[in-house]
Amino acid sequence: MNNIISLIRLSGKLVMAALGMLLTINVLAQEAQSLSSLEEEVKESLNCSFITTNDVPEMEAYKVLDFILQDSKSFTFHHPYLRKIVICNSNRGEYITNNGYFTEIRLPNTPDLKFLDYCLRHEIGHAIDHSNDARGSKEWKTVRKHIDTKSISSYAGTNDEELFAELVAYRTSKEYGKSLPILPDDIEKMIDRYLYN
Ligand SMILES: [Zn+2]
Repeated sequence: MNNIISLIRLSGKLVMAALGMLLTINVLAQEAQSLSSLEEEVKESLNCSFITTNDVPEMEAYKVLDFILQDSKSFTFHHPYLRKIVICNSNRGEYITNNGYFTEIRLPNTPDLKFLDYCLRHEIGHAIDHSNDARGSKEWKTVRKHIDTKSISSYAGTNDEELFAELVAYRTSKEYGKSLPILPDDIEKMIDRYLYN
């Protein structure tokens, strides 16, 4: 009799476990579906062909991409063509290009959304620079002479390539004209020409 009761209890447990598994599979399938549709929206919003999330867990990739999508809706500037956006388990952004032709930006999987916003703007700044050969222009050479890199950021002093990206991140920041002082007129004009013309 005891054996029969424990057999019934065991089969009850097995049924519950199987139901639990089915539920988990269902939730995972739904998440996978919404992650891929989110990827499509980000691609469209940022003028990008591919998105990969590497070894980032799906839930984390979803949070990062969701923020990027909302953030990109606040951009009023022209989006340069991006071939690929990679979300990775790294603590910084990165820009990879092949002569301005193949452009890829790498963004960190981070819960620090302010930093993610900055990385996105900085890396897009590189894409704007490379796709327009901005630092090859006469205007840049003239304006460059009197840019005080320290007033932009400490990283802006690294080299001219980083300075241009930092200028774009600075100019397009939500804090521009608030906690970030407005740039000298000619510098702002030069950056705006690439952003808005
Ligand atoms: Zn950079």
